[in-house]
Amino acid sequence: LDSLAALDTVVPEANRKQQTDRAPEQPENGFNNADDSDSSLPVVRAWGREVLSKVPQSRLGMDLVEASVFDSTEAVEVLIERALTAQPEWAALGGAGRAALLRKAAVELSRRRGELIEVAASETGKTLAEGDVEISEAVDFANYYGMSAAKLDQVQGATFVPSKLTVVTPPWNFPIAITAGSILAPLAAGSSVIVKPAPQAKRCAAVVVEALWAAGISKDVLIFADVAEGPIGQHLISHPAVDRVILTGAYETAKLFRSWRSDLPLLAETSGKNAIIVTPSADLDVAAKDVVRSAFGHAGQKCSAASLVILVGSVADSDRFRNQLVDAVSSLKVGFPEDPETEIGPIIEPAAGKLKTALTTLGEGESWLVAPRKLDTEGRLYSPGVRTGVRPNSYYHLTEFFGPVLGVMTAKTLEEAIELQNASAYGLTAGLHTMDAEELALWLDKVQAGNLYVNRGITGAIVQRQPFGGWKRSSVGAGAKAGGPNYLVHLGSWESRELPE
Ligand code: GLU
Repeated sequence: LDSLAALDTVVPEANRKQQTDRAPEQPENGFNNADDSDSSLPVVRAWGREVLSKVPQSRLGMDLVEASVFDSTEAVEVLIERALTAQPEWAALGGAGRAALLRKAAVELSRRRGELIEVAASETGKTLAEGDVEISEAVDFANYYGMSAAKLDQVQGATFVPSKLTVVTPPWNFPIAITAGSILAPLAAGSSVIVKPAPQAKRCAAVVVEALWAAGISKDVLIFADVAEGPIGQHLISHPAVDRVILTGAYETAKLFRSWRSDLPLLAETSGKNAIIVTPSADLDVAAKDVVRSAFGHAGQKCSAASLVILVGSVADSDRFRNQLVDAVSSLKVGFPEDPETEIGPIIEPAAGKLKTALTTLGEGESWLVAPRKLDTEGRLYSPGVRTGVRPNSYYHLTEFFGPVLGVMTAKTLEEAIELQNASAYGLTAGLHTMDAEELALWLDKVQAGNLYVNRGITGAIVQRQPFGGWKRSSVGAGAKAGGPNYLVHLGSWESRELPE
């Protein structure tokens, strides 16, 4: 099956992408850039003031959401029947046939770049720049899984048997890219898909689904269903006809799904508590930039975000790096996405629970390097906070908060720092800043995380180039990394067949 990895022909759009010189690919989508040339802001220049002005009152996706409410178990049964009936024909297209439709899906997603940025900004508060990156990732998923689908049919000595029905429950934090990727993978692998959107990002999921329908994927093979939370949702997730659930969300949600159906085949990318280590050999300027970007991009609402930075030896003992952090964090522009200067947008809903605790209280021995400030009355807009003095095994050290807070820890040696980094029950991303090959070798030997980054930020995995998947409690269910060569291989079963003489 590894032969699937052999033919790499797609160049990820995210690799090619230079936001500074992106030109409109599809002028007919209604966004006219002609008079934006004087803007110093790359995304604004590219996608125009039109997007910005539409964000506050956008209704994109609303019609489909309103038409797709299913609030009875009988209605869910009808959806499942529709999906199951349509699946054989979809599977019969073969990998190459489905790949052709996925390539069209890539085009349709790309054509809607402006709309998708708009709906992500208006519904979830995502900044235009972060939204722009998401569209590229969604396009990459479509091209890449299309290519992988075509290869499913070429495996010697084994026949791929698609699953019949996959339920996808996408997240609100990557409402375009992960929604598209989680739908496109099972589709590519020949399964029908029912998408149950995240409550906070229904319109985003609706616009993604509409793009895929426009590519020619049937409305029975891909069903958008705003299934009510509670018993109706449980009925869908735990239904025996469902071959697999693909979830991106909290570890607790994965556990809940499992409690509903213990034999549920679940492919879940779950939580993270991620740290970047900075050693004395590191380029501290680069490290400070990468830590700040990883901690506060999308207001820290990424599973992959840096929640901790662990300073080693002389980096811990001097104030230089801490001062750099303070300067960098204090210069970030916090606001709403319709303000073109916004770098850090709002959090998804008013801070509550663990996140509110992390934004408003300090643990023993901790102090604020940069105190977070609440900037609106609702409690969605916080300036980023950095706490120092985080102690080993403290509440802050081990808890995921999913918001704009960063903690600083210290270690005498790299070994000690790695222990602090590995102490978490999760293992999603991990970073190391070093210029020393021996330090790197030691770290690679000991670190426990699915996605490792050296001398760069720890968010922003790239389809095909850096597939994404977790370790420990950051992943539930067997499977390969999303955006990687073996992801589709696990989305069906295999029958061996005689090799030709
Ligand atoms: N794939 C994303 C990244 O690398 C993170 C996904 C998530 O937060 O769930 O930044």
